[in-house]
Amino acid sequence: MPNTRIVHPQLIRILDHYKTIWSLNHFSALGYWDLETYMPQEGIEARSEALAKIASLSQKLFLDKEFMALIKEAIIITNLNDYERAVLRLLLRSLKFYERLPSEFIEALVRTTSEATTVWRKAKQESNFPLFQPYLEKIVSLSRKKADYLGYNDHPYDALLDEYEEGLTTKDVERYFASIKEPLIRLLKRIKSSQHYKEQHELENVEYNKEDMRQFMDKLLLMLHGGFSHLRLDISAHPFSTSLGKGDTRITTRYEGKDFGRSYGSTIHEYGHALYEIQSHEDLHYTPISGGSSLVIHESQSRFWENFVGRSREFLQQMYLELIATNPSLKKYAPEELHRYLNLVKPSLIRTEADEVTYHFHVMIRFEIEKALLEGSLEVAQIPDVWRQKYHDYLGIEPTDDATGVLQDVHWSQGSIGYFPTYSLGTALSAMWKHALERQLGPITALLAQPEGIKQIQAWLKEHIHQFGSTYTFAQLVKKSAGEDFTPVYLLSYLENKYATLYP
Ligand code: MG
Repeated sequence: MPNTRIVHPQLIRILDHYKTIWSLNHFSALGYWDLETYMPQEGIEARSEALAKIASLSQKLFLDKEFMALIKEAIIITNLNDYERAVLRLLLRSLKFYERLPSEFIEALVRTTSEATTVWRKAKQESNFPLFQPYLEKIVSLSRKKADYLGYNDHPYDALLDEYEEGLTTKDVERYFASIKEPLIRLLKRIKSSQHYKEQHELENVEYNKEDMRQFMDKLLLMLHGGFSHLRLDISAHPFSTSLGKGDTRITTRYEGKDFGRSYGSTIHEYGHALYEIQSHEDLHYTPISGGSSLVIHESQSRFWENFVGRSREFLQQMYLELIATNPSLKKYAPEELHRYLNLVKPSLIRTEADEVTYHFHVMIRFEIEKALLEGSLEVAQIPDVWRQKYHDYLGIEPTDDATGVLQDVHWSQGSIGYFPTYSLGTALSAMWKHALERQLGPITALLAQPEGIKQIQAWLKEHIHQFGSTYTFAQLVKKSAGEDFTPVYLLSYLENKYATLYP
């Protein structure tokens, strides 16, 4: 079947060249996936070297004279459609990155962060921040340098935010957090004063058999997706999803042997990411706009499935029989009890395990620290103290060690500074999609109460979001598919309503 979305001969020539870069990306993604799942531990040095070389080879291919000339000639073509323009937009974005960052800098960054990730893992195990500190100092200094190379108008942090979400600025993030902070503090206060408030649910300590739970996750994905012909599920320390291209999207989860909600939440979360890639339009394969590149939009999909489907009473009702068939020890908990367990709100130390209300405070804390590091008003050595103070101020609790404090997330060791805000923004965006979908199809809860509901939700997401891949920027897609500009009001009203019922 001929491609109906990318038809201009100049774009076809460009994509023909791009296919070699795409192939390198394909194998580098496979290399990262393998590193996180099946690679023997001692393979890290060789894998880091290979990935660093692939990254610089990719840069060379991007900066190839013929390829750059083709892209620059295309800029002045006036009759391109949305898809063709988007291909150019994303190629120019990568080009800007590669033109401004010297190749020695890119290699230094890849080497430093590969090493730092290994040190971070050890530091976290030993709960030893001073071990990681010199590496983080190096990463912060490289990040400042990167911001200078890439350029920014207002704040060096803008250059880093833009890497993860095109055009996002420090001011945007500050404005957004300012609008949700007080309402969430008030909501948490109300929840804590409810007679239903409790700091623990019995199920958090109930142990399960990992193999039984793995079988349930397969059943869960069958219920959500119907099959595995283009999707697989594996195990990794940090759950993630990756798409290698047409017909091959992979997700991971983890099994800790107790508190099954963590594995369950991770699997559905990553499935939300995977579905975005799987439902991207077929004509976008092998192009830079296949699947999602905007982290906010991507996270809006994972959080949509995790929160609106996975934590709903109706879906829990649907999956309950599979759960107790594979894990008979959970039989004594009724679906209503599972619902309470999965929607328990309480201040906690670990971001990835946080409930829907307190989650955003974890992100605010990281944003404030990153911004201060970039502008130089905070030294790396001071982070553990500042971290404790901020957890105390926002959540009323403090970590007693670095492992459950400053060392909990892998991001900084990987050089991902500027990434965290997309988690909270993506969650707010998911509530906008929910509102837009419900305007057309009625309440998600009603859809989930009937057998065809999941398919209807998937079809809506495909039509309004997934089919476009990365064709539109965050601002454009929100306007086009949600019908208005980005706003956190739907997140706030959703949380208010839901938790007013759960915590009267
Ligand atoms: Mg995610």
